[in-house]
Amino acid sequence: MMPQFAYTRPKSIDDALKILAPGNAVVHAGGTDLLGCLRERVFEAKTVVSLSDLPELKGIQKAKDGGLRIGALTTISEVAEDPLVRAMYPGLAKAASEVGSPQLRNQGTLGGNLCQKPRCWYYRGDFHCIRKGGDTCYAVDGENQFHCIFGGDSCYIVHPSDTAPVLMALEAKVHIEGPKGKRDVPVGEFHVQPSKDPQRETVLAQGELLTSVLLPPPPGGLRSSYRKVRARQSWDFALVGVALALVMSTGKVSRARVVLSGVAPVPWRLRAVEELLTGRELDAETIRLAAETSIKGANPLKHNVYKLPLMKGAIEEELTAILAA
Ligand SMILES: Cc1cc2nc3c(=O)[nH]c(=O)nc-3n(C[C@H](O)[C@H](O)[C@H](O)COP(=O)(O)OP(=O)(O)OC[C@H]3O[C@@H](n4cnc5c(N)ncnc54)[C@H](O)[C@@H]3O)c2cc1C
Repeated sequence: MMPQFAYTRPKSIDDALKILAPGNAVVHAGGTDLLGCLRERVFEAKTVVSLSDLPELKGIQKAKDGGLRIGALTTISEVAEDPLVRAMYPGLAKAASEVGSPQLRNQGTLGGNLCQKPRCWYYRGDFHCIRKGGDTCYAVDGENQFHCIFGGDSCYIVHPSDTAPVLMALEAKVHIEGPKGKRDVPVGEFHVQPSKDPQRETVLAQGELLTSVLLPPPPGGLRSSYRKVRARQSWDFALVGVALALVMSTGKVSRARVVLSGVAPVPWRLRAVEELLTGRELDAETIRLAAETSIKGANPLKHNVYKLPLMKGAIEEELTAILAA
């Protein structure tokens, strides 16, 4: 049963910030993740603050520097279908098109996609796990087939967003507004590793609002893509998601970003693969070496060793698709 809470729909960002400031209030964007969390009592809130009356948080505009500004309340469908996103950052359009189901994409927002809570069944279930303030990650000795193979420390969740790894690969920033002012944070620094704090997913402080996502102008020769591997073809979270942003120059890779979803508690950058790709021709041998390198440093649990060949294969196939295009 849904617990009781007050519901408010402020008419300005300033009013929203005032209501959020004292604490015990949560942001409601599309509600596709939030309402489940409240119903399942993953966390509690006295007040739910809807963003639906804030038109300035909606829409996609070209920025002065040639990049794009996407309002946090823009739906995932709008991101997937927008002609500018498709032309400038096809990897982001692809990732958005892979989120959940059409209904979830029509209701869910880009801001909510970046701020959503992890799907771990212990965290979402009746377990007082470390993410809820306990002292145990039940996944370590439990059912851990969907948990992380990189970056697990005290907590072994995987980061669930499909858009976050692509935004990180594209070197996007999030614009944040709060009681102490405004700031831009690179998406690569927005999510918090369990080793730093196992009880929070993002750097958002109490009362802060993610208001937009800022994408830099795409460099010439940019090739961006996203490949999601899931257990079934209908809606499902990524077992492994591979986001690539390669800058190609005269047949060689001049800059590489390789970021994964579904394998670590935060979007996970494969720096060793990026280093290997940089300065090389993208040919079959380079792709083979990149796939081999991708699993170095992985630390699978008892039931998720299968993610290693899955990740290797996804990277190999996605790089091969870029080579063939
Ligand atoms: C069945 C199902 C399948 C799903 N499949 C996928 C999937 O395949 N891939 C995927 O990436 N996601 C998936 N999701 C997760 C989620 O629904 C989507 O990511 C969606 O985009 C979340 O957006 P929302 O606007 O509905 O967020 P909400 O539910 O409104 O919010 C989610 C969280 O973020 C906070 N929040 C929202 N907006 C802001 C903001 N602007 N500033 C600060 N905090 C904010 C909320 O307080 C809440 O804690 C799935 C969810 C369900 C229920």
